Amino acid sequence: MWQVIGQDKIVSLLRRSLEKGALAHAYLLVGPPHVGKMTLALNLAQVLNCEANEPPCGECASCQKIASNKHADVQIVSLTSNGNSERTKPQTEISTEQVKDVQHAANLPPFEGKYKVFIIDGAEFMSNEAANRLLKTLEEPVDNVVFVLLTTNEELLPPTVISRCQRLELPPLTTTEIETALNSRGVIEPQKKALLARLSHGCPGWAFSAAFDDGLLNQRSEQIDRSLDIINADNEERFQYAAQVATQFSKSRETVQQILDLWLDYWRDLMLIKAGCKDGITNIDFEATLVKMAGDYSLAQIKSLINSLQAAKEQLRQNANPQLVLEVLMLSIPRKERRRGQNTTAQFSVKYG
Ligand SMILES: [Zn+2]
Repeated sequence: MWQVIGQDKIVSLLRRSLEKGALAHAYLLVGPPHVGKMTLALNLAQVLNCEANEPPCGECASCQKIASNKHADVQIVSLTSNGNSERTKPQTEISTEQVKDVQHAANLPPFEGKYKVFIIDGAEFMSNEAANRLLKTLEEPVDNVVFVLLTTNEELLPPTVISRCQRLELPPLTTTEIETALNSRGVIEPQKKALLARLSHGCPGWAFSAAFDDGLLNQRSEQIDRSLDIINADNEERFQYAAQVATQFSKSRETVQQILDLWLDYWRDLMLIKAGCKDGITNIDFEATLVKMAGDYSLAQIKSLINSLQAAKEQLRQNANPQLVLEVLMLSIPRKERRRGQNTTAQFSVKYG
């Protein structure tokens, strides 16, 4: 059985291609993080190498080896796959050397299976030289070799590489689909299911991780609490926060993007409440705080911060100076609007948490 969840259209398309013997030499799987791109890529590798009559069986030696990343003919290339322990800084590019190794391996016959499958996870991180090198291989397909490129941001890939691949887009699942998937994995508590389904934004991989690792949800609550403190803090404290987050950026860009996504979700929730669409909010466990807070800001203020958050995310993606970007963002956090009939002291005595 195909393990990927909620991508029936893509699975039936791949099935038909397999039946007709019309498999592409290269696929580009596009979709948000944790939506199921890697699961689908591994499933495809299993189908191509499975020893059973109805592949992927998930049980034969080949399927199991692929699932545990131990199959000699299925190779995953990513920012972390070259295992250089002497590296002091995190790798920011998939290097030419990594692609060279792939080219070399692609020219050798399958070692233990029927097909060689190369999965390039985070294909958008290939250096220009690496992408050009890969392009040469994609232009001269080798029999029994399939490339699967995974990306969350295809705009960063050279169009020449994209044009050599069959593009498959994995859309996020609906909240109901995620809840059903969680149910099938034994998560039955309705409130937890509802919260995880919303926080996952349609990406089952995230929902499953958070369902079985309380650390993720705790970390999220702490980050929201911290953001609420910062909203009420003076500029000095806000700048300290900016500096802290900027330091994190040098270690893990993804973590910082996640923090900004968390802010975005929260302020989008405020906008929904302001617009009377309470049912659509993501952070349902913070509903009471959100409702209270929505009264403190105008719709224009909320929209303006959402724009600033989106701009900051984009600037960080484009390698702007993180401290500068985050300091500008801190300055754009609105101050509470004075409510009619309330004095300033009363407003600032409201404590959130
Ligand atoms: Zn199998």
